[in-house]
Amino acid sequence: MHTFTYDALPGRIVFGPGAARRSLGDEVDAFGARRILLVAGGSATGPARDLCAPFADRVMAAFTEVRPHVPVETAERARSAAAGADLVLCVGGGSTTGTAKAVALTTGLPIVAVPTTYAGSEVTPVWGLTQGTRKTTGTDRRVLPRTVVYDPELTLGLPAALSAASGLNAMAHCVEAFWAPGRNPVSGAVAEDGIRHLAAGLPGLAADLAGADARTSLLLGAYLAGSAFAGAGSGLHHKICHVLGGAFDLPHAQTHAIVLPHVVAFNAADAPEAVARVAAALGRTDPAAGLHDLATELGVPAGLRELGLAEGDLDTVLGDILALAPADNPRTVTAENLAGLLHAAWTGTAPS
Ligand code: NAD
Repeated sequence: MHTFTYDALPGRIVFGPGAARRSLGDEVDAFGARRILLVAGGSATGPARDLCAPFADRVMAAFTEVRPHVPVETAERARSAAAGADLVLCVGGGSTTGTAKAVALTTGLPIVAVPTTYAGSEVTPVWGLTQGTRKTTGTDRRVLPRTVVYDPELTLGLPAALSAASGLNAMAHCVEAFWAPGRNPVSGAVAEDGIRHLAAGLPGLAADLAGADARTSLLLGAYLAGSAFAGAGSGLHHKICHVLGGAFDLPHAQTHAIVLPHVVAFNAADAPEAVARVAAALGRTDPAAGLHDLATELGVPAGLRELGLAEGDLDTVLGDILALAPADNPRTVTAENLAGLLHAAWTGTAPS
């Protein structure tokens, strides 16, 4: 690749076991924050409050009504809760980060993010909002968290199924960085290393869910994955998952985990260099089969039908996906070959 454009993104990263407990107060202080809006939801709410205990007097409000895919009504309520705030601190998965981003989008408030899954949203300038069943995404530097504190200890309680699916979601960010429209040598190198760390961490989860080494590899891989995704953008795989997730309210990470091997198989013959790099980083000869086997070993549902999708549902979204499919995808996407890809992901048979 001799001609490319790469937008290097600003941001401070603090990474390490215990980093949140040790450094979050200092990181918040660096902004001179006096009126912090804490955004945290689900099982991250308790740990988030504990982390804020040393500077609780400066947490003016906590917004805990986090919902998947950030419904516009949730965004509005979070913005109201932010009135008078000078910093947004979010602790949680991609939905929590997304809610903080919705606040930053209209208020310009800085975000300090503490991710507790492998979604990677915390290092991208991409926001997403859902109106009814339609999710809209956009890019705006105002939503890019200024500081991210990565602490593997906060991920030790992430259940097995979510850990696997979220780790494979990060894997999808890395793999697509090789053929997404904004592909570039920097994101490719970052993605390759991301795949190595994710491939090192994922198998270890089955044996020891709270294994510190595996959790550290996975969170580092997730950071690299988010960075690669931020640089390269969304390719065919992300477009498919975006449409399916929005139309049928499918679980984000599982959908990614199921679809990815089929997109790799779909593109393989037309992207030999990318596939060779993915294979080497993954340590598997055939990356499509390797990713499918890895997902199966980790207990991810085999096909979209196991997520409750009916076969006929695929026809209703085919046109929407086709309209979004990148024109420079390695293999030209047609209604016919896309239908074949979706059907394979629906049945869950091993890609060939
Ligand atoms: P999520 O944030 O919805 O979390 C999934 C579940 O995990 C929730 O029930 C949550 O409470 C729980 N959870 C989170 N951390 C936990 C922990 N440490 N221990 C136990 N439970 C925990 O899901 P996600 O996969 O992290 O994020 C998905 C969302 O992020 C989607 O809306 C997706 O579109 C968005 N996303 C955005 C970008 C971007 O660049 N804008 C990138 C990736 C993902």
